[in-house]
Amino acid sequence: MDSCIFCKIANGEIPSATIYEDEEVRVILDIAPAAKGHAILLVKKHAANLFELDAQTAGKIFSIVPKVATAIKEELGCDGMNILQNNGEAAGQTVFHLHIHFIPRWNSDTVNIGWKPGSYAEGEAAGLAERIAQRVK
Ligand code: AMP
Ligand code: ZN
Repeated sequence: MDSCIFCKIANGEIPSATIYEDEEVRVILDIAPAAKGHAILLVKKHAANLFELDAQTAGKIFSIVPKVATAIKEELGCDGMNILQNNGEAAGQTVFHLHIHFIPRWNSDTVNIGWKPGSYAEGEAAGLAERIAQRVK
């Protein structure tokens, strides 16, 4: 992907504040952090989002998440951390190269990442779960 900025950053063509790198991923500090220490893990081989990711690469990148999260937590002294990952414009993705966010959080934070809790009608959740379960390949 010649025009993809995260391909260029992940592969070292554009310098970045890197906190971890191996053959498959690079973790950098986000340029516009939601909090100090906000980092993003980029895959080196372009995939737009999680739906394009093969299971082997998914296993590899998620196996790195705990050690990076722990390092950030130790250094920042945060109380918690949101680890999130946006897939598609509808989900708030703005850079269409797969990445995982690490956002340090403090007990004193006034803004939280959240949603308005909804509900299901009687029997709706069971039916939906069954239909999704049949699609898990
Ligand atoms: P998302 O909305 O999940 O696609 O997140 C994209 C993230 O990439 C945002 O948090 C941006 O601040 C961050 N970002 C965009 N360009 C750069 C860059 N050149 N270096 C570091 N982070 C970037
Ligand atoms: Zn890319």
